[in-house]
Amino acid sequence: METKILTVDNTDPQLNKAIFTEAAKVINTGGLVAFPTETVYGLGANALDGTAVKKIYEAKGRPSDNPLIAHISDIKQLDALVKDISPVAQKLMKAFWPGPLTLVFMKKDIIPKETSGGLDTVAIRFPENRTAQQFITACGVPIAAPSANTSGKPSPTRASHVEFDLNGKIDMIIDGGSCEFGLESTIVDVSGDTPCLLRPGSITLEMLKEIAPDITVDKVVLGRLNDGERPKAPGMKYTHYSPDASVTIIRGSVEKTVAEINSLLEEHKAEKCGVIATEETKDGYNTKNVLVIGTRKHPETIAANLFKMLRKCDFYGYETVFVEGFPESELGLAIMNRLKKAAGYSIIELDK
Ligand code: AMP
Ligand code: MG
Repeated sequence: METKILTVDNTDPQLNKAIFTEAAKVINTGGLVAFPTETVYGLGANALDGTAVKKIYEAKGRPSDNPLIAHISDIKQLDALVKDISPVAQKLMKAFWPGPLTLVFMKKDIIPKETSGGLDTVAIRFPENRTAQQFITACGVPIAAPSANTSGKPSPTRASHVEFDLNGKIDMIIDGGSCEFGLESTIVDVSGDTPCLLRPGSITLEMLKEIAPDITVDKVVLGRLNDGERPKAPGMKYTHYSPDASVTIIRGSVEKTVAEINSLLEEHKAEKCGVIATEETKDGYNTKNVLVIGTRKHPETIAANLFKMLRKCDFYGYETVFVEGFPESELGLAIMNRLKKAAGYSIIELDK
């Protein structure tokens, strides 16, 4: 299959209209379109068409028990898809929609099992990104979309990442530039009595607590589950975001971190090593293979570049990667959640 790549141009509404019309035709005939959102690129199909949704799992190599998020472009679409919208769900929607928050509700029968991964709940998001909204609106149906990467690889934050992973396997890519936040959406389960954070993201736990003070946190958010334990967001049990290199996180004060990584570089000098560093530390390493992920002063820069840097590790062919760790508060919770998975939970704590 040839993958068509169409680039949106927000100075040219005529062109954009033609792009969305063409993309909607693909979706409405059961095809797959990758599209930008403010979090990462999504791989979309008609969420109400089980046969179309199945193709997403095939293209990504995604396990079939890992459900997708259904994306809407108007809050009015919600009622047809879900049962029981609780008062706290309403409050969260009012505070954070449209935006990088996914809510899990009890589903109505219209949602096929392929979209919900066989669960009786469904995850719904109303993205803020203008291109995403225009695309969904043009399709006229909710769009089921996981991240548009090969399963297990870092999520795509640029159209070129999608092309690298999925070229020839999907019908179309809408290129809308790079994603603003760069981490997948925060997921909160609002299907029970108390809301529960299933996956941290750019809407932080601190922000959620202001609206829902009794929110709980699923164990999988902080660390690895024991054998046999099941996370509430099925996707959280899979290895993720992994570059080909072996990745280790080193966490402690900035000075200790740099010193420890330098001694690890010496120890591993027979291997091709890389360091994922920050603006504050980049000049302290005894190697040229330093990738700067962002500045500690603005963690949102780190979130936005994280997946791009993990992909770069493969591009440069690093065998071993040392990455600096961050405190697990505010956006740091989501950043560390993704890094820990990329590192297979290999972490050296220097201040313990
Ligand atoms: P992705 O967009 O690729 O990150 O994949 C969607 C994520 O949403 C996965 O981690 C899923 O496990 C999670 N998810 C989707 N639907 C549900 C649901 N009904 N309940 C809990 N988690 C869900
Ligand atoms: Mg994903």
